[in-house]
Amino acid sequence: MKVGIIGAGASGLALASMLEQLNIDYMLFNKGKIGRKILASGNGRCNISHNSYKGSDYFDNPLAIHILDHNFKDVFAFFHSLGIYTKTDNEGRMYPISESSQSVLNILLKNIHKKIIDIEIDSIRKSNDKYYLNGGYGPLDKIVLATGSIASFKKPYLSFDFLKDLDTKFNPFVPSLVGFQTTKKIKAIAGARAKCHCTLLQNKNIIHEEDGEVIFKDNGISGIVIMNLSGYYQHLKSKADAVIKIDFSYNKDYPSYESIIQPKILNYLLENNIDVHSLYIPILGVYDFEFAQVCKGGIDISMVNDNLSLKKDKNVFAMGEVLDVDAICGGYNLMFAFASAIEVFKEIKNEIQNK
Ligand SMILES: Cc1cc2nc3c(=O)[nH]c(=O)nc-3n(C[C@H](O)[C@H](O)[C@H](O)COP(=O)(O)OP(=O)(O)OC[C@H]3O[C@@H](n4cnc5c(N)ncnc54)[C@H](O)[C@@H]3O)c2cc1C
Repeated sequence: MKVGIIGAGASGLALASMLEQLNIDYMLFNKGKIGRKILASGNGRCNISHNSYKGSDYFDNPLAIHILDHNFKDVFAFFHSLGIYTKTDNEGRMYPISESSQSVLNILLKNIHKKIIDIEIDSIRKSNDKYYLNGGYGPLDKIVLATGSIASFKKPYLSFDFLKDLDTKFNPFVPSLVGFQTTKKIKAIAGARAKCHCTLLQNKNIIHEEDGEVIFKDNGISGIVIMNLSGYYQHLKSKADAVIKIDFSYNKDYPSYESIIQPKILNYLLENNIDVHSLYIPILGVYDFEFAQVCKGGIDISMVNDNLSLKKDKNVFAMGEVLDVDAICGGYNLMFAFASAIEVFKEIKNEIQNK
């Protein structure tokens, strides 16, 4: 059996290293910097996983829950099998002990002995149950889509044209885990940061709320708490009337707020007669893909089986972010990439063993 993996990011590299452990033949195709998003994750520290998960961390996506329910423990066994040892912070986020993304990428690459083929795949042709890719590659017995999304890329984006050949439903990508573009009213506090309680509201209904640091910009807001809220925002059917409410003085341990709030922000609130508990900022949209950590969108989960093969073709698999699965910040997105690679590996391994 020969497997063609398209994409050498988190999921593609993980699958390749697992196939090598069982001597299963494969070809790995990649355009762009190998493992680029692994390197970027956790600000270069590699927030590789989380020590637990809830459905809500994945916006209750049933495929994500299924894959994690089946492979959560195996993710850590996989890390250990490679010699990736982790530590966990107070909030459950997991990092390699080195706190270096580069060390994770180095270890994954150390376990891959084949040359990664530098090519942009844009077509997958099927003939007599074998697959042929542009560039003259093939015959291949199985194809694994591990191309991720266009998050953090500038135009022109890499090709997803191969999806047309697979006749699969694809939900357009939208940037997620990204800052909000807001009204220019907050320009006066651009550059300031504040620990706040933030609420995403729509028509006065609370969509999601959490605490965290907000960074104010000329035309928007960012920070981890805002990125998380952007995930909830992108899951809203309609974006109309979405507003962020910021409470600068939510910590009951500090009944007075003068020493808590940066003077620049405090002056702005006082001058504009705004309550410290409720600065309302209407959302105009989100920043572009270039600034996003992930995308909502991808191959519709109704198109894949529980083992991540396509319903229309059981020899083609999809894993990681090319699937319409996204999660909040905290290691959950990389965890899904690894867990889904493990699922695909198990399926391929079973098939070989049952032959
Ligand atoms: C700045 C940043 C910070 C992040 N921080 C975290 C974090 O702290 N924790 C966390 O869990 N997640 C984080 N993420 C998200 C996480 O990195 C991704 O969800 C994860 O890497 C997705 O893995 P993947 O294997 O699906 O795709 P990717 O890792 O994106 O890999 C896909 C690969 O396929 C290649 N490719 C795409 N199309 C083609 C084509 N047509 N032909 C050939 N090759 C192609 C790409 O160039 C890429 O190398 C972060 C992302 C970014 C951008």
